[in-house]
Amino acid sequence: MFAQAAACIRSEHQRLTELDSVGGDGDHGTTMLRAAEQMEDCMDAAGTENLTAFLKAVGWRVLGVDGGASSGLFGTFFAGMGEVELSEDSMDCREFAESLQAGLRAVSRQSKARPGDKTMMDALTPAVDAVSAAAGAGKTIAEALGDAACAARLGAESTSDMVARYGRARSLGERTRGYPDAGATSVALIFKGFREGLGKGRVSDGGS
Ligand code: ADP
Ligand code: MG
Repeated sequence: MFAQAAACIRSEHQRLTELDSVGGDGDHGTTMLRAAEQMEDCMDAAGTENLTAFLKAVGWRVLGVDGGASSGLFGTFFAGMGEVELSEDSMDCREFAESLQAGLRAVSRQSKARPGDKTMMDALTPAVDAVSAAAGAGKTIAEALGDAACAARLGAESTSDMVARYGRARSLGERTRGYPDAGATSVALIFKGFREGLGKGRVSDGGS
């Protein structure tokens, strides 16, 4: 999942920079490329054999990326996902949802931005909530990720109609309308990668 999320970021990093050039300082693609590099490097790093250790390690590495606000927020999200106990061999959709909700709570402690403010929260919140809803409906993790990827994409697209109220884009006000938020677009790419990556990952979904 993380390998494919990194691949999705890599293939779209120029667009991420273009979007951040409209409302920000044009560094988002570069920051996310560095984050993707850390996600890839972590894959075979020592001490990341279990899931929670892996998530915390990815989180801290992404947090350490020299770049914009987004590396801190994405790092916080991944590390936050590792704050809950996860069953190594039999993780079900409920556990996965709890992990994502813990990540979202951690980001929400860092940022006061909420859906509607034209930030990554407009994609992250519906994506995480889609997994919780899917878990409640008894869906598999794969199905939940399909829902989440869709929710994140729609959430990112919805930011086109919004005016930025947080981050560097805030000072540009009305000029940010008409373009999707860069960070929300990254969230959509990450969840697209998670969904695609689960299908071809090293660990099977186990049908739960
Ligand atoms: P910077 O704005 O510091 O240059 P980036 O360019 O890497 O950081 O990332 C910009 C993205 O980060 C924005 O598009 C937005 O989604 C997200 N972002 C910035 N500030 C915040 C915030 N306070 N809360 C939530 N998301 C934010
Ligand atoms: Mg920027």
